[in-house]
Amino acid sequence: MSGPRFSVCVYCGSRPGALPAYADAAAEVGRLIGAAGGRLVYGGGRSGLMGVVADATLAAGGEVVGIIPRSLMDREHGHTGLTELHVVETMHERKQMMAERADAFLTLPGGIGTFEELFETWTWLQLGYHAKPVGLLDVAGYYGPLRQMLAHTVQQGFFSPQQHDTLLVDESAERLLQRLRAACRGNGEDYSRI
Ligand code: AMP
Repeated sequence: MSGPRFSVCVYCGSRPGALPAYADAAAEVGRLIGAAGGRLVYGGGRSGLMGVVADATLAAGGEVVGIIPRSLMDREHGHTGLTELHVVETMHERKQMMAERADAFLTLPGGIGTFEELFETWTWLQLGYHAKPVGLLDVAGYYGPLRQMLAHTVQQGFFSPQQHDTLLVDESAERLLQRLRAACRGNGEDYSRI
């Protein structure tokens, strides 16, 4: 196989969450990225689902690029076993670098930090700041209430159905990664490795 590595920026919880299904999904995403010779771009920590997805990608032979603010190195247990770990000064630098290094975005279950990252990336897409596909992996129904809220937002006239549909939502990690890759192809990129 040839071509550039498909770089997927994964947003996910710095905690493991209440159900084993969340860590299982994080491990599956990492395994799929790694097995396809892809690259994970993420927040650089070892804690919670963040550590799970990074370790699974590395174990499957993928590259992992972590980007972490210096002030969070202790709190999120900066991962020292990555292909690249960038220690930056601010959260803004982290988010910008994560977005720049990615071809596509995938959000796993997580808390308000994860929501913030998902919504920022998605709003940037809506505003035309980038054209990279944005995906949401709904594991064990975790994002059901959020999906309902988004539908409500459309019903109440604050969001267009077209914009709503730009978020790629799926319950299958494999299918969501395929959809993200296909959307990148639609952008004129060709990622033959995942
Ligand atoms: P959480 O989902 O709250 O566990 O956080 C997941 C990741 O999001 C962690 O690496 C946090 O450092 C990060 N995070 C928290 N707040 C923000 C924010 N305002 N912008 C971007 N990332 C954040």
